[in-house]
Amino acid sequence: SIVVTGATGHLGRLVVEQLLEKVPADRITAVVRTPEKAADLARRGVRISVADYNAPETFDDLFAAGDKVLLVSGNEFDKGRVQQHRVVIDAAKAAGVALLAYTSAPGSLKAALADDHRGTEEALLSSGLPYTLLRNGWYHENYTEQLAPVLEHGAVVHAAGEGRISAASRADYAAAAVAVLTGEGHENKTYELGGDQAWGFAEFAAELSRQTGKEITYRQVSVEEYQGILTGAGLPEPLAAILAGVDASIEKGELVVGSGDLSRLTGRPTTPLAEAIATALKG
Ligand code: NDP
Repeated sequence: SIVVTGATGHLGRLVVEQLLEKVPADRITAVVRTPEKAADLARRGVRISVADYNAPETFDDLFAAGDKVLLVSGNEFDKGRVQQHRVVIDAAKAAGVALLAYTSAPGSLKAALADDHRGTEEALLSSGLPYTLLRNGWYHENYTEQLAPVLEHGAVVHAAGEGRISAASRADYAAAAVAVLTGEGHENKTYELGGDQAWGFAEFAAELSRQTGKEITYRQVSVEEYQGILTGAGLPEPLAAILAGVDASIEKGELVVGSGDLSRLTGRPTTPLAEAIATALKG
């Protein structure tokens, strides 16, 4: 089987939907915490396994020898993600899966956010399993899904200076994962995935202005100021620090990915920012 964890998340769901276009549904297993959220996938014939990264026993006997597995990194920053991911790696190792692909972060990213990814990569490599590192760059959606306050204030507020981001749509990264899970020759490869064109927040604001007809500007603030704005908006302090750290990394160019791996794996250009904004504005 092809097994996808995090299958009810944004990325995992796109992967399962794209897999359904290529392989029979009964060869796909969606690993989920909440089966109700996967009812539509079950109806389409996808096999559902219920497991939680925090409960190692739920992964006992979940995988079979020869499976190709996509481990979608978790989003519980306060729960020790390396240990969570290790639970999946250990179970995959015990079963003898044919491939374990992991959604990581760009090798160039030095922000604290990348630490869990580096730790997971080390655990995966030392497991001896055949692996693929999908070092996903940033999603356009990280920015296009939060447009209400931007449109309200006419300002894109960030602490990234003139730094640029090689962003692409989640669907592009999903297509890369599908290419690896359904193709051949991806064992023990590391892919640095990012959009074909990098953009900065000034360009992001200009494109928003163009598409909305409103004047929207990029307001550059310091990393400290940005962190304060985020906590002021109700984000927990540790998360605000992580996100402010990402902006500092963007300014240093750490989210620019020049490899071309993403469009090469998917066989098509990545989704341009203008298209992602248009999709988001359509709601
Ligand atoms: P989502 O937050 O939509 O999905 C995260 C998935 O992880 C969900 O399916 C969630 O399950 C699952 N999950 C979390 N904790 C556990 C757990 N303890 N046990 C089992 N499953 C768990 O994120 P995306 O799909 O958008 O992105 C995928 C991952 O990529 C993120 O989790 C994060 O690690 C990373 N990321 C990357 C970004 C980028 O720009 N490259 C931006 C943001 C995140 P459930 O559906 O039940 O909640």
